[in-house]
Amino acid sequence: KEKVPSDIDIAMAQTPKPITQLAHEIGVLPGELESYGAYKAKVDLSVLERLAHRKDGKYILVSGITPTPLGEGKSTTTIGLAQALGAHMDRLTFACVRQPSQGPTFGIKGGAAGGGYSQVIPMDEFNLHLTGDIHAVTAANNLLAAALDARMLHEATQSDKALYSRLVPTKKGKREFAPLMFKRLKKLGIDKTNPNELTPEEITRFARLDVDPETITWNRVIDVNDRFLRKITIGQNPTEQGHERVTGYDISVASECMAVLALTTGLQDMRERLGAMVVATSKRGEPITADDVGCGGALAVLMKDAIKPNLMQTLEGTPVFVHAGPFANIAHGNSSILADRVALKLAGTEEGDEAERVGYVLTEGGFGADMGMEKFCNIKCRVSGLTPDAVVIVATTRALKMHGGGPDVTPGKPLHDTYTKEDLVTLEEGCKNLVRHIENSRKFGLKVIVAVNQFATDTSAELDLIRQKALSGGADAAVVSNHWAEGGAGAKALAEAVVATCEGPSDFKFLYDLNLPIEKKIEIICKEIYGADGITLSEQAQKQINTYAHQGFGGLPICMAKTQYSFSHDPKLKNVASGFTVPIRSVRLSAGAGFLYPILGDMQTMPGLGTRPGFWEVDLDPTGKVVGLF
Ligand code: ADP
Repeated sequence: KEKVPSDIDIAMAQTPKPITQLAHEIGVLPGELESYGAYKAKVDLSVLERLAHRKDGKYILVSGITPTPLGEGKSTTTIGLAQALGAHMDRLTFACVRQPSQGPTFGIKGGAAGGGYSQVIPMDEFNLHLTGDIHAVTAANNLLAAALDARMLHEATQSDKALYSRLVPTKKGKREFAPLMFKRLKKLGIDKTNPNELTPEEITRFARLDVDPETITWNRVIDVNDRFLRKITIGQNPTEQGHERVTGYDISVASECMAVLALTTGLQDMRERLGAMVVATSKRGEPITADDVGCGGALAVLMKDAIKPNLMQTLEGTPVFVHAGPFANIAHGNSSILADRVALKLAGTEEGDEAERVGYVLTEGGFGADMGMEKFCNIKCRVSGLTPDAVVIVATTRALKMHGGGPDVTPGKPLHDTYTKEDLVTLEEGCKNLVRHIENSRKFGLKVIVAVNQFATDTSAELDLIRQKALSGGADAAVVSNHWAEGGAGAKALAEAVVATCEGPSDFKFLYDLNLPIEKKIEIICKEIYGADGITLSEQAQKQINTYAHQGFGGLPICMAKTQYSFSHDPKLKNVASGFTVPIRSVRLSAGAGFLYPILGDMQTMPGLGTRPGFWEVDLDPTGKVVGLF
């Protein structure tokens, strides 16, 4: 067998076709395409109106077993399967993936463009700035943070009257409300349009947000694994003296603005969601929103281009949408609803088309199916109203062996024999993890196709064992796929299984009813999906839950912030954990994105850098080409 070159060598050896040509092939009109250089473009959302009459293509989620440091190849499989369907079976197929955060790209994970002969290209552009969407999210998030702190300073240093006359200044002899202020007046029940007619009591209520500093939940963000920003004190210059405050940074992709980008259904919807984001509670107990602070409109302006999905291509020239990048552990872990919708229409059928013409949309839910898939179903599908036809669960022999008791890997040391030689005993034990994910998928009424992502050292007895276990565990199909070494051709059997499985109707359902109490919804996820005995709420979490329920946010779905390495909250408990109770440390509200966000155990919303991060490898060669991204 020939040796497969490195990911970046394969990626760099392939010249992508011009993005205008790809757009033409998939039916995007020139007026709907905004090129960013030769190989990337944004697609205008007007395409959704033009194709509104079409029936959607088939919608497939790609998820995986519980991740291990050995890597399961979910992205690689998504791309390989898209290549198989699109380039080898003549089905117009879109892969919809997340934009990677630069935190992990320069940290330990490396890029996320897939691998081997199943990749998105150009992989350096994919992994770095792309078209600037994450930067736009960062800008929006931090404008709101700056606006909130400045407003608190001004409220603390000015009388009611002075504050009011600065907020509603006199221009050409006339005092006028900014348009956005009418929203606040309405919220306060003040039915007046003339700023001169407010009573002193109304002036106070209008001008003072009266933020309770203890309740501020809005952090600043940056797309770097900068652990030293996890907790910081701001306001240390003499000009802000007396107003210092302890706060922190999250990674940009954990920003609620990113969740809004991923979950929005259109420009006006995004504007409303950004304005509805809650940053704190006032001393009177009301939620303070971005619109109260006055910047909901400005945030929408900063993100007006980011809302358009980014078109790229696979190594075999099939289309990929790269759009939005929330992590799957500390956020909801799915690419954007809008990219999926645009893809589903482009892959869809017109009246009179033959059934065989239908195209496919593969969308990736991050990390294991307990994370990305659960959130895909309970959060993303609830907002989008879209129904998946099936889920593909990706597994590898080596990762299953680690769940079955295989030793941890030490960086720099060769892999233990278990991972490179046949070991059916360890593998069989680890298949319990896969089976649990299959059973969980069934709880959503999903059809399940297990994709065994083949490694060169896998033996046929091992591959057969996984297939057998998957089928007896309830999968509709289980197929070995060799797309990493062979590209789309290696995933043809998997593609055929996907097509066959998706033929019948799907029976999709949600796991919990939104009307249940917040605690109950959290408990259902922990018991049904993680296999926990129950949950314990910290005093803080209980208090937050009470506040949110009281403020009218009790009906939102739940986005768990949990380690991806275990069904439980403890990353060390591999395979199928049991006999544990999940500690809920705190609960955050994402009112604009539309979910409640319980934080389990000691999850961090800002990753850190290790001793030997990926950036050591990255450089420019003498011709200006990027090297060392992986
Ligand atoms: P995930 O999406 O699960 O995080 P990726 O698809 O990003 O995983 O793959 C992680 C790494 O593993 C990539 O560098 C990729 O090249 C490598 N990889 C994936 N599948 C295989 C395979 N079958 N054989 C060898 N390496 C693989």
